[in-house]
Formats: sequence, C-alpha cells, structure tokens
Amino acid sequence: MFGGRFVILATPRGYVPAALLVLLYACPLVARSTFLQHLLILMFIYASVATAWGILGGFVGQYSIGHSMFFGIGAYTATLLLVKLGVPTVVGIWAGVALAIVLACVIGYPCLRLRGPFFSLATIAVAEVLRLLVMSWRSLTEGSMGLFIPSRPTWMNLMFADRMAFLYVALTFMVICVTISLFIARSRLGHQMRCTREDPDAAEAIGINTTFIKLSALVISASMTAIGGVLFAQYLLFIDPDSVFSIEFSIYVAMMAIIGGMAHPIGPAVGALLLTPIQETLHGWLGGSYQGLYGVVYGTMLIVIVMTLPGGIIGWLVVGYRRLLEILPAFPVGHRDAPGAKPASPLVSMQAVRESDGPILEVSGVSKRFGGLVAVNDLSMAIRRREIVGLIGPNGSGKTTLFNVITGALTLSEGEIILAGVRLPKTRAPHVAAKLGVARTFQLVRPFNQLSVFDNVVGAALMATDSAIQASETASQVLDSLGLGHLQEKQARELSLGDRKRLEIARALATHPKILLLDEVMSGLTPQEVDVMLSVIRDIQAGGMTILLVEHLIHAIIKVADRIVVLQHGEKIADGTPQAVVNDARVVEAYLGKRYRKAQSLATA
Ligand code: ADP
Ligand code: MG
Repeated sequence: MFGGRFVILATPRGYVPAALLVLLYACPLVARSTFLQHLLILMFIYASVATAWGILGGFVGQYSIGHSMFFGIGAYTATLLLVKLGVPTVVGIWAGVALAIVLACVIGYPCLRLRGPFFSLATIAVAEVLRLLVMSWRSLTEGSMGLFIPSRPTWMNLMFADRMAFLYVALTFMVICVTISLFIARSRLGHQMRCTREDPDAAEAIGINTTFIKLSALVISASMTAIGGVLFAQYLLFIDPDSVFSIEFSIYVAMMAIIGGMAHPIGPAVGALLLTPIQETLHGWLGGSYQGLYGVVYGTMLIVIVMTLPGGIIGWLVVGYRRLLEILPAFPVGHRDAPGAKPASPLVSMQAVRESDGPILEVSGVSKRFGGLVAVNDLSMAIRRREIVGLIGPNGSGKTTLFNVITGALTLSEGEIILAGVRLPKTRAPHVAAKLGVARTFQLVRPFNQLSVFDNVVGAALMATDSAIQASETASQVLDSLGLGHLQEKQARELSLGDRKRLEIARALATHPKILLLDEVMSGLTPQEVDVMLSVIRDIQAGGMTILLVEHLIHAIIKVADRIVVLQHGEKIADGTPQAVVNDARVVEAYLGKRYRKAQSLATA
C-alpha cells in the first residue's frame, strides 16, 4: 500500500501531522464570511511573524522588542518599489528581505556580541527611529498619511480578485515558516542555538561561534518577518508607519510567541492562532470605550499562562499529542526492510590520535595582567601527550586564569601558547581554541541546564561532525563510558553535583579534544564521588587523552597526576613528580601547610 519513504504515513507519527495539515488547508473553505476570512488572514500572517520571532527569542534567547522594524522594512520597500517604480511585488519582496538582512547585520553584529539587554534596547530604538524617519520623509512615504496601494489584481503583485486566493497564500507562508522552524530546531544549527541560549561561555567552549549563531538566527528571523510585512501590505493595500513600525505590534508578536511557547518550533504559531481572534474580539469590544483595557486583559493572560504553563500552551498540547499518537493504531504495511543492524561507528571515543611524541601543549613566558594585578607571571610549562599534569596553588594563584588564557576566554598579556605544534593567536574567541582541540570544564559547573543530558553532549559532538546520527552515537558512547548513560533523558539541572561535573567532562570529550583542562572537578564531591571521578580520569587517560588538572584536593591529585606544577602569585614555584613536589620546602611553606603530612605520606605510599 505504501511504498518506500511513504511507509511513515502508515504510522500515527506520519498520518496525524498529515491529517492536521489537510484540516488546516480545509479551514478556509468553511470560512465563508468576510470577517472570518479577514481573521484567518491576520492569524496566518501573525503566526508567521511570531514563528520568526521565536527563532530568535525562543531558540537563542535574544528578545527583539522592535521586531516591527523588519516587518515595516519589508512592507515599505516592496510597496514603494511597486507604487513609485512599478516593480512587481514578487521582485520587491526580495529587495525588502535584502534590506532587512542588512539592517539585521548592522544592529546584530555590534549588539549581539554584548551580554545583557543591549540588543533588546537597540531593537526598540531602531524601530522607533525608522518609524520617525518614515513619518518625516513625506516626499517619499507620504508620512503619517500612509501609502495606498492601487488594487490591480495579478499574482505578480500578490493581489487577487478573490480573497480566498490570498488566504491560501498567507496560509502557505505560515506553513513554510513553521516548517523552516521545525527544520532548524532539529538541525545542527538548532542545537547550537539552544546551547548558545543556555550558556554562551559553555557554548564557546564546545566550539560554537555564539556571535555567528545569534546573528544567523536574527538574519533568518528578519527575512521571514520582512516577507510577512510585504504580505500584510498587499492584503490591506494600505500601510502607515504606526501600523507597521509600531512597538505595540512588536510586543504583540513577542507575547504571542511567549504565550504559545517560544522555545518550541510550533509554539509561537499556536500562540498567534489562538490569540489573534481573542485580540481582535477584545479590540472590538473594549477598544472604543475602554482604551487600553484590552492591554490589561492581554497582560493578565500572559502572566497567568507563564506562571501555570512555563513552556507555553504548546507544552500542554504536546502532552496531548503524544498521548494521541500512543492510542492511535499503526497500519500494517507490505514489507519493510528491517533497518539492518548498523555497523557500529568506528571508535569515536576519547581515543586521541597519536601524532608525534612532542609536547601537546607548550606555554611559554605567559603573563596575564588585570590592571596592576599580575594574575599569571611569566609562566612556562609543557605537557606531554597522555600525561596528567596537576596544577595546584593557593586560592587566587592564577590557575583558572591560566585556563582562561589557554582557551582564549581571556586575552594573553604576554607569551605564547603552542598546541600540538601550532602557535595559537594571542587574541582568539574560545570557540577557536575549542576547534583547535582545547576542551575545558568550568570551576563552577556550567552544563546547559534546560537541555537533556543527551542534548548537552550531542551539542558538543556536533562540533566534529555534521551528521546528527554520528553526533548521537558519539554522545551515547561518551555518556556510557562516564557512567551517565542511564541519565541521558534527564534535564541537566536535575543531576547531582558529581553527575553534573561528569556531564561537563562528557561534553568536553565529545568535541574530540587534543587536551582536556579540568578545573576543580573534584571539589565539593563526597569521598565516594571523588573515587568515581579519579577512576574516570584514569580511564580517560588510558583512552589516550592528555589532561591538565586543577585541584585543591591534594590527596586526590597525588593519586592520578604524573606530574604536579605549583603556582603561587601567578608564578611557578615547583614542577615535578608528586613525591618531589610534596617534599619541596617552598611548596610546603606556600601551600601545603597543614596538608603536608597527609600528602607526604600518600606520596611515599
Ligand atoms: P585560582 O583559580 O588560582 O584560584 P584565579 O585565576 O581565579 O585564581 O585568580 C587569580 C587572580 O586574578 C585573583 O587575584 C583574581 O581576583 C584575579 N582575576 C581573575 N579573573 C579576573 C578578571 N576577569 N578580572 C580581574 N581580576 C581577575
Ligand atoms: Mg580557580
């Protein structure tokens, strides 16, 4: 009955979405009244724009509060080209998209590099500036009077004698936007977007260029929004600055996305489809006599929904949808090739490639100053392949700072760092070092808390491969080898501290690094957890990895380190075998103190 790739249609996972799509396309047929048709068109356009907003706000967590600027740019560009120069809308639309992309880059490139509310503030400011500009440039735009588009129905101008045709254009655009969003959510880019949203520093540490990812989301979102603006103009045949550039519009779109569930690819569209009718009705009832009241009603809804359904309406729908899929039957199909047991992928584990026997990391003459404070002072050290080097020293002696200059989180003041024979540039983003083979964990654990354990590691594995299947295999393998396999489905924030620390190591390993920098992965753990961690570290080394290990637990570090380097005030005061270091008079005086006896007895044991 079903052949080849259509086999999926025999299962609920295939036929339910297909049926929903058919239903969606049947909707306009029953909407006979002009008002219903008008409402549906608005719903579809809003749903498209809300979906676009969600790609930026939901996937990468950058809230644009002036998204109307892209809507307005699209609407005005295509309209002016059509009205003034007679350029058909199907061409003008791309001019609108191009301008929206330019605008997105101009705002995004400087603002998305910064943390904090700068991007959101910039979007509000730019939208307002554009609104005022369009208002005052009367010779071109007719100012606040707005522009009328003469009705000359032809598909070239996306104008149709029959409203129904436009309804289907708007519906199809919405379906395309949601499909793009679904596609992104499942792609490598989607993974990188979510990691960026969760923790930009940790995302950089697994090789993600977070500025580029944020900018990509903005460009995609701006383009889709601009097309939405063109459709809006072609539907109403009139635009004015207050309708297409207004902050109010931007806020509505954001609210629809948030209420629907912005982190889900379908959430914003669901929000828009449910809220547009409510908004239009409330506007009708309350707009005239009680100006602003419908804003209050809308705001209250937002608060109630965010408090009761933190994932938005879609979170609740998804539960129902999953139940439905479980209840519905799958139809038997002819014969289907059993997916033969796939040969296991070649060992993608921590087996580091053994290239040569030279040092894997050389730090020479490295200094890092913060104003007058010298955190790392003229430090030189080398780490051989498969060596575990312990880095110890009192608090504030510069251990974490050394990690930060190696990974590029901080710029070097002086000196050079050579990784597997390649000199690293002095100034480089952390994702560059990650791609070159430096993986790290953070002193204060930073897993992607809202993502599953599995997705945490998949995000990292995607640094080394484009294939989602291969990344999943790597993730499973690494998680199993670190004893976290049974926790893959859990959200990272649900794990114990020990498990979260191991998860960070798993994430680092999944990038196939040349060297692993572990920052206090044993502090705060119970003695049993410390033992587990020690055996994990030994196993990783046995797999061929080189490790630089910062640790305060001297009795633990002595058990695994081949060599120990001691820092004090940013300077190296000792470098040698654990036994030699714990017997070194300077080390005893500067750091070991009362830990001395225990450490010494362990080192000799
Ligand atoms: P450790 O990890 O050995 O405990 P750190 O490397 O965190 O020490 O800190 C070394 C010194 O550098 C401390 O005096 C700390 O206050 C300072 N320091 C670290 N990071 C920064 C920063 N980003 N800006 C200013 N000072 C810093
Ligand atoms: Mg530290």
